Amino acid sequence: MSVLVLAEIDNGALSPATARIVAAASRLGPVDLLVPGPQAAGAEAARIAGVAKVFTSAVEMRAESLAMLLSTLTMRYRYIVAGASSLGKDVMPRLAAMLDIQPVTDIVAIESPTRFVRPVYAGNALETVSDPQDRHVLTIRAAAFRPAAGDNDAPVEVLDAPAVSAAKLIATHRNESDIPDLPTARIVVAGGVSVGSREGFALVEKLASVLGAAIGATRAAVDAGYAPNDWQVGQTGKIIAPELYIAVGISGALQHLAGIQGARKIIAINKDAEAPLVRIADLALIGDLFEIVPQLIAELEKAGLGR
Ligand SMILES: Cc1cc2nc3c(=O)[nH]c(=O)nc-3n(C[C@H](O)[C@H](O)[C@H](O)COP(=O)(O)OP(=O)(O)OC[C@H]3O[C@@H](n4cnc5c(N)ncnc54)[C@H](O)[C@@H]3O)c2cc1C
Repeated sequence: MSVLVLAEIDNGALSPATARIVAAASRLGPVDLLVPGPQAAGAEAARIAGVAKVFTSAVEMRAESLAMLLSTLTMRYRYIVAGASSLGKDVMPRLAAMLDIQPVTDIVAIESPTRFVRPVYAGNALETVSDPQDRHVLTIRAAAFRPAAGDNDAPVEVLDAPAVSAAKLIATHRNESDIPDLPTARIVVAGGVSVGSREGFALVEKLASVLGAAIGATRAAVDAGYAPNDWQVGQTGKIIAPELYIAVGISGALQHLAGIQGARKIIAINKDAEAPLVRIADLALIGDLFEIVPQLIAELEKAGLGR
């Protein structure tokens, strides 16, 4: 018995998170991938290493439809896996209820075919869950795993979309932006409330732009109206795992740290050498952000970045 993974689709295209979920799921067995999107996304998915077969379907991107489609395929699989994203959080509990299976959610490590590690208490502790059920419904935190390579050529099969209910998806809306996606970005520059204004936050955005980085913010900065809600990083925001995280004027409250535990290197810019984020940083620049950040931008531009 093998693994069925629900691919992450972002605005009709395959999300980079899918290759990470496949890499994680491959530890459980051969992976088939269900791509609820156009055939171009299916062709891209077929290149992900470790994928044995791709199913594509023009199914509606609604939890009812996706759970119904998954449920028609599940008899063949021991594991049904999705990302711990808004899509996975919507679809998988529904599927688990249909199959009468207790799901295991937000997995950050796979210890064995039946033992999974997941964060609890806003990431302040990790619990190991033993799942003795015959079949498993899992959601995986994509940012916790490295992506699978892209050198495969798996076969693609087109599935009919199930007719589910009278409800119809009329439209979806998203913010258009050239800025990298926060959860999968290699570099994230984030700002705190100490930037003092929307204009002050533009300094954080400028540093991010020079580095080609995604932009994050603390909840305090979002609440103050300096940054949009979808930039919030932390317990009640996005979970990120960049190679480099640059925190500009951020204290490092527990709820913020819950979102950056996967960051590989951290640089803190803060005037308080005792701030919690400074203490966990690999490198700290102690001083006024309004002096340090413009100098940093000037040096990076001098070195040819951001042109
Ligand atoms: C249920 C709950 C959920 C929450 N979820 C989240 C979440 O998801 N994400 C999140 O971020 N927060 C969250 N919070 C809020 C969190 O507790 C903190 O209040 C918030 O993270 C603090 O943001 P901050 O670092 O911008 O501000 P502060 O804590 O006020 O820190 C400002 C920092 O800037 C430094 N500073 C000030 N001026 C300068 C300067 N000129 N130059 C350099 N450094 C300077 C200070 O030394 C300080 O370290 C949550 C809170 C609750 C109760």
